[in-house]
Amino acid sequence: MRLSRYFLPTLRETPREAEIVSHRLMLRAGMVRQQSAGIFSWLPLGLRVLNKINAIIREEQNRAGAVEILMPTIQSADLWRESGRYEAYGKEMLRIRDRHERDMLFGPTNEEMVTDIFRTYLRSYKDLPLNLYHIQWKFRDEIRPRFGTMRSREFLMKDAYSFDLDKESARHAYNRMFVAYLRTFARMGLRAIPMQADTGPIGGDLSHEFIILASTGESEVFCDKAYLDFDTPAAETDFEDRAGLQGIVDAWTARYAATDEKHDEAAFAALPDADKLSARGIEVGHIFYFGTKYSEPMRAVVTGPDGKEHPVHMGSYGIGPSRLVPAIIEASHDEAGVIWPDAIAPFHVALLNLKPGDPATDGACETLYAALGAAGYDVLYDDREERPGAKFANADLIGLPWQVIVGPKSLADGKIEMKRRATGARELVAVDDCLARLK
Ligand code: ATP
Ligand code: MG
Ligand code: MG
Ligand code: MG
Repeated sequence: MRLSRYFLPTLRETPREAEIVSHRLMLRAGMVRQQSAGIFSWLPLGLRVLNKINAIIREEQNRAGAVEILMPTIQSADLWRESGRYEAYGKEMLRIRDRHERDMLFGPTNEEMVTDIFRTYLRSYKDLPLNLYHIQWKFRDEIRPRFGTMRSREFLMKDAYSFDLDKESARHAYNRMFVAYLRTFARMGLRAIPMQADTGPIGGDLSHEFIILASTGESEVFCDKAYLDFDTPAAETDFEDRAGLQGIVDAWTARYAATDEKHDEAAFAALPDADKLSARGIEVGHIFYFGTKYSEPMRAVVTGPDGKEHPVHMGSYGIGPSRLVPAIIEASHDEAGVIWPDAIAPFHVALLNLKPGDPATDGACETLYAALGAAGYDVLYDDREERPGAKFANADLIGLPWQVIVGPKSLADGKIEMKRRATGARELVAVDDCLARLK
């Protein structure tokens, strides 16, 4: 992508309304635009990051055996009357009436709808286990939307729903998502700690929140420091191996980790002082097992091996991609701007032409642009008529992992400069060695 042809509306000034660094940087780097309170447009750079995050989530959901669908944003109130949540959900639900005076709503979550899909098509325990997920916009009329897309009213959620014959199989379904979540967040360069959590309006008795430690987080959390050094389960993990998965989950839940709602002062106090971590955190994911809470009232039943009807045991599993974007920035930035982890960077390389119009730099840049693109790298080529200082500042702000700097002086020696954004390390390399150096 040539920057001169792109749409990257960066801001020089720090927007006054933004209270936390991720919000400031997302506005300054031209990633999002607030359209009304808690409602955002995603601009090209932000959308690229969001899509990268979604791609990782998809890969890990699919690996764990979940199947993607897409449910609508607008739902009928009648479905929610069946579960009893239409009244119970309260003011966070955006209620809508259509031209025929029918009560509709903008979905804040999809338990009811997916239960309806299940009961329409599935009849036998032989169809189980099943896990259906989608990545879809949600609306919650948050009392205090703030921090940009961290707590917005319209936000993207990956929500998965598992269906099993009994509690034991449902536990396995829960463990599959638990391990998938550990892998998902680790691949984004994040250390997310599963913490015992309240189940809230979703209901149920087994639940973990996946929390990223950050001083700007809205949750107060308490855990054993050992979790900071735990290994992430491997890609080769066998998701069908019940005992194996249970072993991983047991290890990841053996030590103390709880959000303030579930905090047990006495249990925490029993930890050696050196192991205690009391901090603030961002909830990036949340998983629940809630048994037959929806299947019973909504009559989602299957015939079991005993020939009788059983309401299915369900769980639900949420991740907030549009919250992950600022969460990753909170975890990875410096004074100059964002530092994207390689796996979710919007482009891999910022190619900076320090003297557009100069035949030598133009020529070298075009050659590099073509070669990097052919090798599969996404390159943002800064071909604008701008001072070098402005290009450097812009590249640091948008935080691409590599900067390839092409200026007339080094080029006279056949060299370009390569800068690793994360460390600031710079190196002069021969033009022909650029590709090899990226690997
Ligand atoms: P919170 O405690 O932050 O209000 P929640 O517990 O209400 O979140 P869940 O119902 O567990 O949220 O939804 C699953 C995931 O969706 C959350 O873990 C979070 O990543 C994301 N999410 C929830 N609310 C928002 C929001 N207002 N803006 C952005 N992401 C959100
Ligand atoms: Mg909430
Ligand atoms: Mg919560
Ligand atoms: Mg939650």
